[in-house]
Amino acid sequence: MNKVKSSNLGYPRIGEKREWKKALEQFWAGKLEKEAFLKQIEEIRLQHLQKQKDQGIDLIPVGDFSLYDQVLDTAVMFGLVPKRFEYGGGKVSLETYFDIARGTKGAVAAEMTKWFNTNYHYIVPELGEAVPALVENRPLQFYKEAKQKLDIDGKPVILGPVTFVKLSKGYKESELKTVVDQFVPLYADILRELQKEGVEWVQIDEPILSTTISKEEVALFNDIYQTLREAAPNVKVILQTYFESIEHYEDVIALPVQGIGLDFVHDYGQNLAALKKYGFPKDKVLAAGVIDGRNIWRANLDDKYSILAEIAGVVSRDRLIVQPSSSLLHTPVTVKSEETLDEVLKGALSFADEKLHEIVVLTKGLQDGKETIQEEIAASTKAIQALNESSFRNNTQVQEAIQNLHTYRAEREAAFKVRQGVQEEAFQLPLLPTTTIGSFPQTQEVRKQRLNWRKGELTDAEYEEYIKAEIKKWIDIQEELGLDVFVHGEFERTDMVEYFGEKLAGFQFTKFGWVQSYGSRCVKPPLIYGDVSYQESMTVKETVYAQSLTTKPVKGMLTGPITILNWSFVRDDISRYDVANQIALALRTEVEILEENGIRMIQVDEPAIREGLPLKRENWESYLNAAVYAFKLATASVQNDTQIHTHMCYSNFEDIIDAIKALDADVISIETSRSHGELIYAFEENTYGKGIGLGVYDIHSPRVPKLEELTRNIDRALQVLDPKLFWINPDCGLKTRGIDETVAALKVMVEAAEQAREKLFVEKVQ
Ligand code: GLN
Ligand code: ZN
Repeated sequence: MNKVKSSNLGYPRIGEKREWKKALEQFWAGKLEKEAFLKQIEEIRLQHLQKQKDQGIDLIPVGDFSLYDQVLDTAVMFGLVPKRFEYGGGKVSLETYFDIARGTKGAVAAEMTKWFNTNYHYIVPELGEAVPALVENRPLQFYKEAKQKLDIDGKPVILGPVTFVKLSKGYKESELKTVVDQFVPLYADILRELQKEGVEWVQIDEPILSTTISKEEVALFNDIYQTLREAAPNVKVILQTYFESIEHYEDVIALPVQGIGLDFVHDYGQNLAALKKYGFPKDKVLAAGVIDGRNIWRANLDDKYSILAEIAGVVSRDRLIVQPSSSLLHTPVTVKSEETLDEVLKGALSFADEKLHEIVVLTKGLQDGKETIQEEIAASTKAIQALNESSFRNNTQVQEAIQNLHTYRAEREAAFKVRQGVQEEAFQLPLLPTTTIGSFPQTQEVRKQRLNWRKGELTDAEYEEYIKAEIKKWIDIQEELGLDVFVHGEFERTDMVEYFGEKLAGFQFTKFGWVQSYGSRCVKPPLIYGDVSYQESMTVKETVYAQSLTTKPVKGMLTGPITILNWSFVRDDISRYDVANQIALALRTEVEILEENGIRMIQVDEPAIREGLPLKRENWESYLNAAVYAFKLATASVQNDTQIHTHMCYSNFEDIIDAIKALDADVISIETSRSHGELIYAFEENTYGKGIGLGVYDIHSPRVPKLEELTRNIDRALQVLDPKLFWINPDCGLKTRGIDETVAALKVMVEAAEQAREKLFVEKVQ
């Protein structure tokens, strides 16, 4: 009889100290020859495989490694190179691969978008130009490499045909089946060659099954996987899903594959419930994702064992695989590198390497009996308990506040109509007021000064003086430009979440806790590990100083609770919404202090609300309600004549327009320039009755917009929006831009606003 197997779905690429990133960037910069680069990369790749082998993982993923992105890898494997790049057929060269991802002088990079509900971004394949062909069997190549170099009988990981096509663009929804059918023979070829090589297990990722998809689409899978099975009957295919539960459980488990991989962590309990209700086919293997692949907390092995035992009540042990809930791509590499962390916190952490160990332990327990892993279980319980019992997680004041949330007013005192009148009176703004989103250029110099201050080369006082000088410089610039509502420029912030995390209690920053965001770009999300509470004012000094320099209103600038939540690793011992509300209460204090200090416009940015949406629509409502509540908890206590602003960074927000309205912000600014048309369309369908600024130019490109472009954007917006409510602003913060281009662009913007006002005036007179 087979024993219980341990498996992994994917391993982080970046390396313990981001060696991968460094190699890539050196290569791109021409500082590393191609050969040396490939050698370094190979070493990293093999080292990662070896690590998994040493840990004792039975099914080690191969081919999950990438030089940029796994979706791009899949596209180039099928020779899908957009026409604007040079490509003569055959295996896609390394140069072309990077050109697609990063663009060239003459050709724009392929679009990039979020990988399901994670913070990872993939390159969107462009279908419809080239006929797909298998130009390189990547899984085979990586399988062979692991076998030859490390004697690992790996499990090739392949992005499945339906998910691949669904994530691509360049075809119509109605053509889905026809398009997928083009790829099926290519997948069959891949599997046939793998079979010939003696591959036993293959993981085919179809996370699309965890989203809202129709029964007809699930039926599509049937024919496809039947074809694949016939092509390579000896290869055992695990159809892998992750990030949520599968909706059509009974249909999916009946598909013609040898194994099904399910997420038992992020499934809202639904996969386990379905498993118990409908059972599981006797002839299939269940790959049970019980260790959280997306968070950084040590698993309570006792609880995990119980879940596995429940599963084992339905699926016999010899048909069980123990694994993470998803690829470990979304976690940092190892806790070991964190030498300076608090011991209690560190003891309760588990990054990729530690998670693999947890998997191996659980596998052993399931195989040999729980008593054989008693020590490990006890150690995990103890470590987690220590953190739970620590002062970090026992701030009674915060906990009582959360118990008594109903005593906090989370609605503005008066309705918008009333506030609008009072605010008009108070601010006396012109029609179509102009403003910016918050940050001004974070130049090399700004970053250097901060670094020097952190290194102790600059005293606190000197650094503060420097920041003040920057603020003054930009208040003068805004004055000169003639903007109507000013900002202080955010020069004191590296990052909009980190800045607040460093000032609030309950956050911790790691040294090497990086995860890949896109390409070589990595982010280091803060850990929200304890009760979040207010400690000191965070923005008052800079904002009040800025306001003291001008008679124009200066907006206070905060990052909202949901954005802070979504861009952090969040403790999982209490509900995420409780954490959001803890953050909201701390921000509420800051909002009140700003107000007391004469700051009467306060912007609370929530660029990340939309990306936190659950994958399935049925779960949207509770998420959005919680998001709206947290925002209002943070902002609603102000007086009627204090104006609350918010900002969001995406365009297709039709999905969440009701939630946006429910935030009850007096003014919202939304990133739209890249898809102005679509957005206007959205407003034809939905009226919006509060202050709104649709970004009139795209800050993501260094070019200075032309007056006519801005005028066109403004005119179009005014066709569907009330001029009395319309604001004129760029579509996002300006921190990535240079000084000259920023000033030049804003000048054009102010001019466009003036012309638009004149036009409105003339129209009114006529
Ligand atoms: N206030 C922030 C800024 O201007 C907003 C950034 C964002 O939307 N991501 O930089
Ligand atoms: Zn933005």
